[in-house]
Amino acid sequence: MSKAGEHIFEVSSSCPRTWARAAMLTTPHGAVPTPAFTPVGTQATVKSLTPDELSALGAKIVLGNTYHLYLRPGIPLIAELGGLHRFMGWNGSLITDSGGYQVFSLARLRQVSDEGVLFRSHIDGSEHFFTPELAIQLQEALGADIIMAFDECPPYSDDFDAVRESMERTHRWAQRCQESQQRDQALYGIVQGGMFEELRRQSATFITSLGFDGYAIGGLSLGEPKDVTKQIVEETMPLLPKDKPRYLMGVGSPEDLIEGVSRGIDLFDSALPTRIARNGGLFTRKGRCIIRNARFRDWEGPIEDGCDCYTCGNFSAAYLHHLFKCEELLAYRLATLHNLRFVLRLMEEMRQHILDGTFSAFKDSFLGSYQPCDEEVRQAQRQKWMESRNTKFDQD
Ligand SMILES: [Zn+2]
Repeated sequence: MSKAGEHIFEVSSSCPRTWARAAMLTTPHGAVPTPAFTPVGTQATVKSLTPDELSALGAKIVLGNTYHLYLRPGIPLIAELGGLHRFMGWNGSLITDSGGYQVFSLARLRQVSDEGVLFRSHIDGSEHFFTPELAIQLQEALGADIIMAFDECPPYSDDFDAVRESMERTHRWAQRCQESQQRDQALYGIVQGGMFEELRRQSATFITSLGFDGYAIGGLSLGEPKDVTKQIVEETMPLLPKDKPRYLMGVGSPEDLIEGVSRGIDLFDSALPTRIARNGGLFTRKGRCIIRNARFRDWEGPIEDGCDCYTCGNFSAAYLHHLFKCEELLAYRLATLHNLRFVLRLMEEMRQHILDGTFSAFKDSFLGSYQPCDEEVRQAQRQKWMESRNTKFDQD
């Protein structure tokens, strides 16, 4: 049963040609107009930005990470200091993820049983044991508005039986998460099932039968081809209730946000916009540009004409190019401000177009001029990130 006291979700408008919809998600920390993008604050901070800056960018909701905060500084400490909102100085809405994804992608030497997961910290090798009950208890201590069920997040795999077994465990864990919940936070269930449409349908049917406050599609954006991601979302979406928020985890490139919204997704989170910003990859309406490229050396204009962000309003692309070349700290901040504003503004625009009944035309026009990163480059960048993730502790 839903124990979410002040959580309201109201759909205001639906696109007649796609599954896109505009809604208002109200949490105890304010209203979140959807579709919405959730910047990722892995270690209780969206890297390099203050909460005031996040608000000014238009962010209404931020995501914190249970696995990372459990290891550092420790969740009892955050609880003692007043909870995650207070600890990180963020008064807007907050989601915490359950730690499932990190335990399965980042921690070492995992042993999974029905009881839970035994793993070693990626920081110091110390041993820890997560259960669905503990994941809920930790998220209750952090006190976010929205918390997530603890799920098993297997790697991208074509082993049907292994994926099915893992999905069934996720289902049992989802029930245990629900049963152990004490506080009045919104608890979202997560649909798994890998890249198998049949399993995705089974998972969506089962998870929705449990009656959560919202539904997430997990286990995508793990390096599978983008067409597969779209197909799985399309299979899953019609099985999710219309009156609850739908959340696509780990998706945050401009073209994927548009495709997700057009398939009926309300919420997204991803570290991609901030992570690539720190590497000098900046979004424009024509695609992603690499600010270190020589062509920006004497570029007098902003990164993007017409962008309303602080960076574009005050600095030339040449200045950013210079900061990146010198590895100045300001480079990371200015690039992060631009990319997050780009994505948040895109969400605002999509919402307005849904309300105006013009989403479909907007989608076609945006995708017509936006040149996505090609698949080969995308895979190479992902590989590079996965490798650096285990060495430099740059894990979000
Ligand atoms: Zn900008």
